[in-house]
Amino acid sequence: MTDPAAAVDNPAWLKLDLYCKGLRLDDSCFVEEDGGRKILRTRAGLGSGLELILPGGLWTNVPVTEGFARHSPYTLHRESGRYLLRRDGHDVAPVTLSPRPRWYEEKTSTGKPMTRIGTLQGTYLGIYQAKVCEYWTAKPQKTNCKFCSVGLNLGIDDADEKSVDEVMEVIKAARRDSGITYVDFNTGHYDGDTYLDILEPFILRIKRELGLLVGVQTPPHRDLRRYDHLREIGVNRVSFCFEIFDRKIFEEICPGKHAEYGLDHYLEAVRYCAALGRKGPRTEPWVVNGEIIAGLEPPESSIRAIDWIVSVGAIPTVCVFRPLVGTDMQDVPPPRTEDLVPVFRRLYEACMEKGLPIGCAPGINVSLVLLPEECRSLSARHFPVQTLKLKLLGAAVRRMMSRRLAAS
Ligand code: SF4
Repeated sequence: MTDPAAAVDNPAWLKLDLYCKGLRLDDSCFVEEDGGRKILRTRAGLGSGLELILPGGLWTNVPVTEGFARHSPYTLHRESGRYLLRRDGHDVAPVTLSPRPRWYEEKTSTGKPMTRIGTLQGTYLGIYQAKVCEYWTAKPQKTNCKFCSVGLNLGIDDADEKSVDEVMEVIKAARRDSGITYVDFNTGHYDGDTYLDILEPFILRIKRELGLLVGVQTPPHRDLRRYDHLREIGVNRVSFCFEIFDRKIFEEICPGKHAEYGLDHYLEAVRYCAALGRKGPRTEPWVVNGEIIAGLEPPESSIRAIDWIVSVGAIPTVCVFRPLVGTDMQDVPPPRTEDLVPVFRRLYEACMEKGLPIGCAPGINVSLVLLPEECRSLSARHFPVQTLKLKLLGAAVRRMMSRRLAAS
Protein backbone atom coordinates (compact mmCIF):
# COMPACT_ATOMS: atom_id res chain seq x y z
CA MET A 1 0.00 0.00 0.00
CA THR A 2 1.53 3.29 -1.03
CA ASP A 3 -0.84 5.56 0.83
CA PRO A 4 0.00 5.67 4.56
CA ALA A 5 -3.67 6.49 5.23
CA ALA A 6 -4.64 3.13 3.70
CA ALA A 7 -3.98 0.54 6.37
CA VAL A 8 -6.14 -1.65 8.55
CA ASP A 9 -4.82 0.09 11.67
CA ASN A 10 -6.22 3.38 10.37
CA PRO A 11 -9.74 3.47 11.88
CA ALA A 12 -11.31 5.58 9.11
CA TRP A 13 -9.81 3.41 6.40
CA LEU A 14 -11.03 0.25 8.15
CA LYS A 15 -14.58 1.62 8.45
CA LEU A 16 -14.51 2.57 4.77
CA ASP A 17 -12.98 -0.72 3.63
CA LEU A 18 -15.66 -2.68 5.51
CA TYR A 19 -18.43 -0.62 3.83
CA CYS A 20 -16.90 -1.47 0.45
CA LYS A 21 -16.10 -5.13 1.04
CA GLY A 22 -18.52 -6.32 3.71
CA LEU A 23 -17.88 -9.10 6.18
CA ARG A 24 -18.47 -12.84 6.57
CA LEU A 25 -19.64 -14.19 9.91
CA ASP A 26 -17.81 -17.26 11.16
CA ASP A 27 -19.99 -20.01 12.67
CA SER A 28 -18.52 -19.16 16.08
CA CYS A 29 -20.53 -15.86 16.17
CA PHE A 30 -23.73 -15.60 18.22
CA VAL A 31 -24.63 -11.99 17.59
CA GLU A 32 -28.09 -11.83 19.14
CA GLU A 33 -27.31 -14.27 21.97
CA ASP A 34 -24.32 -12.06 22.87
CA GLY A 35 -26.49 -8.94 23.11
CA GLY A 36 -25.86 -7.59 19.60
CA ARG A 37 -28.47 -6.07 17.30
CA LYS A 38 -30.42 -8.19 14.87
CA ILE A 39 -29.34 -7.90 11.25
CA LEU A 40 -32.21 -6.24 9.39
CA ARG A 41 -32.79 -7.36 5.85
CA THR A 42 -33.01 -3.78 4.64
CA ARG A 43 -33.38 -0.56 6.54
CA ALA A 44 -33.88 3.08 5.68
CA GLY A 45 -32.41 2.76 2.22
CA LEU A 46 -28.83 1.92 3.06
CA GLY A 47 -28.24 0.05 6.27
CA SER A 48 -28.80 -3.67 6.20
CA GLY A 49 -25.81 -4.93 8.05
CA LEU A 50 -24.23 -5.80 11.35
CA GLU A 51 -23.88 -2.95 13.84
CA LEU A 52 -20.35 -2.97 15.29
CA ILE A 53 -18.00 -0.69 17.18
CA LEU A 54 -14.51 -0.57 15.66
CA PRO A 55 -11.24 0.42 17.34
CA GLY A 56 -11.11 4.17 17.91
CA GLY A 57 -14.78 4.11 18.97
CA LEU A 58 -16.08 4.21 15.40
CA TRP A 59 -19.63 2.84 15.16
CA THR A 60 -20.50 1.17 11.92
CA ASN A 61 -22.99 -0.95 10.02
CA VAL A 62 -21.14 -3.58 7.99
CA PRO A 63 -22.73 -5.28 4.96
CA VAL A 64 -23.21 -9.00 5.54
CA THR A 65 -26.29 -10.03 3.56
CA GLU A 66 -25.39 -8.65 0.11
CA GLY A 67 -23.80 -10.92 -2.50
CA PHE A 68 -20.47 -9.07 -2.52
CA ALA A 69 -20.00 -9.66 1.23
CA ARG A 70 -19.73 -13.40 0.55
CA HIS A 71 -16.37 -12.74 -1.12
CA SER A 72 -15.07 -10.37 1.54
CA PRO A 73 -11.54 -10.93 2.88
CA TYR A 74 -12.92 -9.93 6.31
CA THR A 75 -14.32 -12.49 8.73
CA LEU A 76 -15.73 -12.06 12.21
CA HIS A 77 -14.90 -14.60 14.92
CA ARG A 78 -15.91 -15.15 18.50
CA GLU A 79 -13.09 -16.29 20.75
CA SER A 80 -13.39 -16.66 24.51
CA GLY A 81 -16.56 -14.57 24.43
CA ARG A 82 -14.91 -11.70 22.49
CA TYR A 83 -15.24 -10.68 18.88
CA LEU A 84 -12.25 -10.49 16.58
CA LEU A 85 -11.97 -9.16 13.05
CA ARG A 86 -9.66 -11.00 10.67
CA ARG A 87 -8.60 -10.22 7.12
CA ASP A 88 -7.43 -13.11 4.94
CA GLY A 89 -7.09 -15.17 8.10
CA HIS A 90 -4.87 -12.61 9.91
CA ASP A 91 -5.98 -10.82 13.05
CA VAL A 92 -6.94 -7.18 12.38
CA ALA A 93 -8.55 -5.89 15.55
CA PRO A 94 -10.91 -6.74 18.40
CA VAL A 95 -14.38 -5.27 17.82
CA THR A 96 -17.51 -4.91 19.95
CA LEU A 97 -21.11 -5.67 19.05
CA SER A 98 -23.26 -2.52 19.26
CA PRO A 99 -25.43 -3.29 22.27
CA ARG A 100 -29.08 -4.20 21.74
CA PRO A 101 -31.09 -2.11 24.19
CA ARG A 102 -33.74 -3.49 26.53
CA TRP A 103 -36.50 -1.52 24.79
CA TYR A 104 -35.94 -3.50 21.56
CA GLU A 105 -37.91 -6.29 23.27
CA GLU A 106 -40.77 -4.00 24.40
CA LYS A 107 -44.10 -3.04 22.84
CA THR A 108 -45.94 0.27 22.85
CA SER A 109 -49.12 0.52 24.91
CA THR A 110 -50.98 0.03 21.61
CA GLY A 111 -49.26 -3.34 21.16
CA LYS A 112 -46.73 -2.53 18.43
CA PRO A 113 -43.14 -3.73 18.78
CA MET A 114 -41.10 -0.60 19.54
CA THR A 115 -38.59 -1.50 16.81
CA ARG A 116 -41.39 -1.05 14.27
CA ILE A 117 -41.60 2.60 15.33
CA GLY A 118 -37.90 3.41 15.42
CA THR A 119 -34.45 1.86 15.68
CA LEU A 120 -31.02 2.96 16.79
CA GLN A 121 -28.61 3.92 14.04
CA GLY A 122 -25.39 3.92 16.01
CA THR A 123 -26.46 5.87 19.12
CA TYR A 124 -29.32 8.03 17.79
CA LEU A 125 -32.93 7.11 17.16
CA GLY A 126 -34.01 6.93 13.52
CA ILE A 127 -37.71 7.05 12.64
CA TYR A 128 -39.01 6.49 9.13
CA GLN A 129 -42.23 8.36 9.51
CA ALA A 130 -45.50 7.80 7.68
CA LYS A 131 -46.31 5.80 4.62
CA VAL A 132 -44.05 4.55 1.87
CA CYS A 133 -42.42 7.06 -0.47
CA GLU A 134 -44.82 7.62 -3.36
CA TYR A 135 -42.14 7.11 -6.00
CA TRP A 136 -42.63 3.43 -5.19
CA THR A 137 -46.33 3.51 -6.01
CA ALA A 138 -46.23 5.93 -8.98
CA LYS A 139 -48.31 4.93 -12.04
CA PRO A 140 -47.91 3.80 -14.77
CA GLN A 141 -44.38 3.07 -13.61
CA LYS A 142 -42.64 3.40 -10.27
CA THR A 143 -39.98 6.11 -10.16
CA ASN A 144 -38.07 5.14 -7.02
CA CYS A 145 -34.35 5.82 -6.72
CA LYS A 146 -32.65 2.75 -8.08
CA PHE A 147 -30.44 2.06 -5.06
CA CYS A 148 -33.32 2.44 -2.57
CA SER A 149 -34.90 -0.34 -0.53
CA VAL A 150 -37.52 1.63 1.40
CA GLY A 151 -40.44 0.26 -0.61
CA LEU A 152 -39.20 -3.27 -0.06
CA ASN A 153 -39.15 -3.26 3.72
CA LEU A 154 -41.99 -1.04 4.80
CA GLY A 155 -44.70 -3.09 6.41
CA ILE A 156 -42.12 -5.71 7.31
CA ASP A 157 -39.73 -3.91 9.62
CA ASP A 158 -41.58 -0.60 10.02
CA ALA A 159 -45.13 0.12 11.18
CA ASP A 160 -47.13 2.02 8.56
CA GLU A 161 -49.03 4.25 10.96
CA LYS A 162 -47.17 5.85 13.83
CA SER A 163 -49.08 8.15 16.15
CA VAL A 164 -47.42 10.97 18.06
CA ASP A 165 -48.10 9.11 21.32
CA GLU A 166 -46.51 5.90 20.03
CA VAL A 167 -43.44 7.73 18.80
CA MET A 168 -43.12 9.61 22.10
CA GLU A 169 -43.30 6.32 24.01
CA VAL A 170 -40.44 4.88 21.97
CA ILE A 171 -38.35 8.03 22.26
CA LYS A 172 -38.79 8.02 26.04
CA ALA A 173 -37.76 4.34 26.21
CA ALA A 174 -34.71 5.05 24.02
CA ARG A 175 -33.81 8.05 26.18
CA ARG A 176 -34.20 5.99 29.38
CA ASP A 177 -32.28 2.88 28.27
CA SER A 178 -29.96 4.11 25.52
CA GLY A 179 -29.36 7.72 26.60
CA ILE A 180 -30.15 9.09 23.14
CA THR A 181 -29.66 12.82 22.59
CA TYR A 182 -30.89 13.02 19.01
CA VAL A 183 -33.97 11.89 17.04
CA ASP A 184 -33.87 11.80 13.25
CA PHE A 185 -37.04 11.73 11.13
CA ASN A 186 -36.86 10.50 7.58
CA THR A 187 -39.60 10.56 4.95
CA GLY A 188 -39.86 9.94 1.25
CA HIS A 189 -41.88 12.00 -1.21
CA TYR A 190 -45.66 12.48 -0.77
CA ASP A 191 -47.89 14.27 -3.23
CA GLY A 192 -48.79 17.75 -2.03
CA ASP A 193 -45.48 18.06 -0.13
CA THR A 194 -47.18 16.96 3.08
CA TYR A 195 -44.06 15.61 4.77
CA LEU A 196 -43.34 18.69 6.89
CA ASP A 197 -47.01 18.97 7.94
CA ILE A 198 -46.83 15.34 9.06
CA LEU A 199 -43.62 15.81 11.05
CA GLU A 200 -44.31 19.12 12.82
CA PRO A 201 -46.59 17.74 15.57
CA PHE A 202 -43.89 15.20 16.47
CA ILE A 203 -41.19 17.85 16.57
CA LEU A 204 -43.24 20.17 18.78
CA ARG A 205 -43.95 17.42 21.33
CA ILE A 206 -40.31 16.29 21.49
CA LYS A 207 -39.05 19.82 21.92
CA ARG A 208 -41.66 20.68 24.55
CA GLU A 209 -41.39 17.53 26.62
CA LEU A 210 -37.86 16.23 26.16
CA GLY A 211 -35.60 18.96 24.76
CA LEU A 212 -33.71 16.47 22.57
CA LEU A 213 -31.95 17.44 19.35
CA VAL A 214 -34.19 16.76 16.33
CA GLY A 215 -33.39 16.40 12.64
CA VAL A 216 -35.50 15.97 9.54
CA GLN A 217 -34.59 14.42 6.24
CA THR A 218 -37.28 14.96 3.63
CA PRO A 219 -37.46 16.11 0.03
CA PRO A 220 -36.91 19.87 -0.37
CA HIS A 221 -40.29 21.52 0.22
CA ARG A 222 -41.33 23.75 -2.67
CA ASP A 223 -42.02 26.61 -0.26
CA LEU A 224 -38.60 27.19 1.25
CA ARG A 225 -40.02 29.57 3.88
CA ARG A 226 -41.28 26.45 5.65
CA TYR A 227 -37.69 25.97 6.83
CA ASP A 228 -37.75 29.34 8.62
CA HIS A 229 -40.56 27.89 10.71
CA LEU A 230 -38.68 24.65 11.37
CA ARG A 231 -35.74 26.74 12.58
CA GLU A 232 -38.07 28.74 14.85
CA ILE A 233 -39.62 25.67 16.49
CA GLY A 234 -36.17 24.37 17.35
CA VAL A 235 -35.28 21.82 14.68
CA ASN A 236 -31.53 21.27 14.77
CA ARG A 237 -30.75 19.63 11.47
CA VAL A 238 -32.24 19.51 8.02
CA SER A 239 -30.80 17.17 5.46
CA PHE A 240 -31.40 17.01 1.73
CA CYS A 241 -30.39 13.85 -0.07
CA PHE A 242 -29.66 14.71 -3.66
CA GLU A 243 -27.34 11.70 -3.77
CA ILE A 244 -25.60 12.53 -7.05
CA PHE A 245 -24.03 15.78 -8.32
CA ASP A 246 -23.63 14.67 -11.94
CA ARG A 247 -26.85 15.80 -13.61
CA LYS A 248 -27.09 12.98 -16.11
CA ILE A 249 -26.48 10.25 -13.56
CA PHE A 250 -28.87 11.96 -11.11
CA GLU A 251 -31.62 11.85 -13.72
CA GLU A 252 -30.94 8.20 -14.49
CA ILE A 253 -30.69 6.85 -10.93
CA CYS A 254 -33.19 9.16 -9.21
CA PRO A 255 -36.00 9.56 -11.79
CA GLY A 256 -38.63 10.55 -9.21
CA LYS A 257 -36.47 13.23 -7.60
CA HIS A 258 -35.53 14.55 -11.02
CA ALA A 259 -39.14 14.79 -12.24
CA GLU A 260 -40.62 16.21 -9.02
CA TYR A 261 -38.00 18.67 -7.80
CA GLY A 262 -34.90 18.53 -9.98
CA LEU A 263 -31.32 18.78 -8.75
CA ASP A 264 -31.40 22.60 -8.76
CA HIS A 265 -34.19 22.77 -6.21
CA TYR A 266 -32.30 20.38 -3.94
CA LEU A 267 -29.24 22.62 -4.16
CA GLU A 268 -31.31 25.76 -3.60
CA ALA A 269 -32.83 24.22 -0.47
CA VAL A 270 -29.36 23.44 0.89
CA ARG A 271 -28.20 26.98 0.15
CA TYR A 272 -31.36 28.61 1.61
CA CYS A 273 -31.33 26.57 4.81
CA ALA A 274 -27.61 27.01 5.44
CA ALA A 275 -28.23 30.78 5.50
CA LEU A 276 -30.86 30.34 8.25
CA GLY A 277 -28.10 29.64 10.79
CA ARG A 278 -27.99 33.36 11.55
CA LYS A 279 -31.73 33.44 12.36
CA GLY A 280 -33.73 31.50 14.90
CA PRO A 281 -33.13 30.66 18.56
CA ARG A 282 -29.46 30.90 19.56
CA THR A 283 -30.02 28.11 22.08
CA GLU A 284 -30.75 25.63 19.29
CA PRO A 285 -27.80 24.43 17.22
CA TRP A 286 -28.57 24.43 13.48
CA VAL A 287 -26.86 22.25 10.91
CA VAL A 288 -27.70 21.72 7.26
CA ASN A 289 -26.56 18.63 5.40
CA GLY A 290 -26.36 17.90 1.70
CA GLU A 291 -26.26 14.14 1.36
CA ILE A 292 -24.56 12.22 -1.44
CA ILE A 293 -23.76 8.59 -2.10
CA ALA A 294 -20.16 7.94 -3.08
CA GLY A 295 -19.81 5.16 -5.61
CA LEU A 296 -22.77 6.17 -7.80
CA GLU A 297 -20.73 8.71 -9.78
CA PRO A 298 -16.99 9.21 -10.42
CA PRO A 299 -15.00 10.25 -7.30
CA GLU A 300 -14.15 13.63 -8.91
CA SER A 301 -17.86 14.37 -9.13
CA SER A 302 -18.40 13.44 -5.45
CA ILE A 303 -15.51 15.78 -4.59
CA ARG A 304 -17.13 18.58 -6.61
CA ALA A 305 -20.34 17.97 -4.65
CA ILE A 306 -18.46 18.21 -1.35
CA ASP A 307 -16.80 21.46 -2.40
CA TRP A 308 -20.13 22.93 -3.48
CA ILE A 309 -21.92 21.93 -0.26
CA VAL A 310 -19.26 23.46 2.01
CA SER A 311 -19.12 26.59 -0.17
CA VAL A 312 -22.66 27.48 0.95
CA GLY A 313 -21.96 26.69 4.62
CA ALA A 314 -23.59 23.25 4.76
CA ILE A 315 -21.95 20.01 5.85
CA PRO A 316 -21.75 17.08 3.43
CA THR A 317 -23.04 13.68 4.50
CA VAL A 318 -21.32 11.08 2.36
CA CYS A 319 -22.74 7.55 2.27
CA VAL A 320 -21.08 4.64 0.52
CA PHE A 321 -23.16 2.95 -2.17
CA ARG A 322 -24.37 -0.46 -1.02
CA PRO A 323 -26.05 -2.69 -3.62
CA LEU A 324 -28.88 -3.86 -1.37
CA VAL A 325 -30.59 -7.18 -2.01
CA GLY A 326 -33.85 -6.78 -3.96
CA THR A 327 -33.11 -3.27 -5.26
CA ASP A 328 -32.76 -2.29 -8.92
CA MET A 329 -29.00 -1.99 -8.37
CA GLN A 330 -28.45 -5.21 -6.44
CA ASP A 331 -26.07 -6.60 -9.07
CA VAL A 332 -23.93 -3.48 -9.42
CA PRO A 333 -20.53 -3.97 -7.74
CA PRO A 334 -19.82 -1.83 -4.66
CA PRO A 335 -17.20 0.93 -4.99
CA ARG A 336 -13.50 0.27 -4.45
CA THR A 337 -11.99 1.58 -1.23
CA GLU A 338 -8.99 3.13 -2.97
CA ASP A 339 -11.30 5.17 -5.22
CA LEU A 340 -13.19 6.57 -2.24
CA VAL A 341 -10.26 7.47 0.03
CA PRO A 342 -9.71 10.83 -1.79
CA VAL A 343 -13.44 11.58 -1.44
CA PHE A 344 -13.48 11.08 2.31
CA ARG A 345 -10.13 12.84 2.74
CA ARG A 346 -11.60 15.85 0.93
CA LEU A 347 -14.70 15.62 3.15
CA TYR A 348 -12.60 16.21 6.27
CA GLU A 349 -10.30 18.81 4.75
CA ALA A 350 -13.09 20.83 3.11
CA CYS A 351 -15.07 21.04 6.39
CA MET A 352 -11.98 22.10 8.33
CA GLU A 353 -10.93 24.68 5.72
CA LYS A 354 -14.38 26.27 5.92
CA GLY A 355 -14.49 26.19 9.72
CA LEU A 356 -17.73 24.17 9.80
CA PRO A 357 -19.02 22.85 13.15
CA ILE A 358 -18.29 19.13 12.77
CA GLY A 359 -18.31 16.64 15.63
CA CYS A 360 -19.86 19.04 18.14
CA ALA A 361 -23.17 17.31 18.96
CA PRO A 362 -22.85 15.25 22.14
CA GLY A 363 -23.47 11.50 22.32
CA ILE A 364 -24.03 10.95 18.61
CA ASN A 365 -22.25 8.07 16.94
CA VAL A 366 -23.35 7.31 13.41
CA SER A 367 -23.12 3.82 11.97
CA LEU A 368 -24.40 4.39 8.43
CA VAL A 369 -21.83 6.94 7.27
CA LEU A 370 -18.24 7.95 7.84
CA LEU A 371 -18.56 11.37 9.47
CA PRO A 372 -16.27 14.24 8.40
CA GLU A 373 -14.49 14.31 11.77
CA GLU A 374 -13.93 10.54 11.62
CA CYS A 375 -11.94 11.02 8.39
CA ARG A 376 -9.16 12.95 10.15
CA SER A 377 -6.82 9.94 9.90
CA LEU A 378 -7.17 9.92 6.09
CA SER A 379 -5.49 13.34 5.86
CA ALA A 380 -1.91 14.38 6.52
CA ARG A 381 -3.01 17.99 7.05
CA HIS A 382 -3.36 19.61 10.47
CA PHE A 383 -5.78 22.35 11.42
CA PRO A 384 -4.70 23.35 14.94
CA VAL A 385 -6.76 26.56 15.23
CA GLN A 386 -9.95 25.02 13.88
CA THR A 387 -9.42 21.89 16.03
CA LEU A 388 -9.24 24.08 19.13
CA LYS A 389 -12.34 26.05 18.09
CA LEU A 390 -14.28 22.81 17.61
CA LYS A 391 -13.18 21.57 21.03
CA LEU A 392 -14.49 24.72 22.69
CA LEU A 393 -17.72 24.67 20.68
CA GLY A 394 -18.26 20.98 21.48
CA ALA A 395 -17.80 21.66 25.20
CA ALA A 396 -20.31 24.54 25.07
CA VAL A 397 -22.92 22.40 23.25
CA ARG A 398 -22.39 19.55 25.75
CA ARG A 399 -22.92 21.91 28.70
CA MET A 400 -26.06 23.37 27.11
CA MET A 401 -27.50 19.91 26.38
CA SER A 402 -26.79 18.48 29.80
CA ARG A 403 -28.50 21.47 31.47
CA ARG A 404 -31.47 21.10 29.17
CA LEU A 405 -31.80 17.33 29.53
CA ALA A 406 -31.46 17.52 33.30
CA ALA A 407 -34.35 19.99 33.35
CA SER A 408 -36.66 17.90 31.15
S1 SF4 B 1 -36.87 9.57 -2.39
FE1 SF4 B 1 -35.70 7.91 -3.34
S2 SF4 B 1 -34.27 7.27 -1.69
FE2 SF4 B 1 -35.91 8.45 -0.71
S3 SF4 B 1 -37.42 6.92 -0.08
FE3 SF4 B 1 -38.08 7.68 -2.11
S4 SF4 B 1 -37.20 6.24 -3.56
FE4 SF4 B 1 -36.11 5.94 -1.61
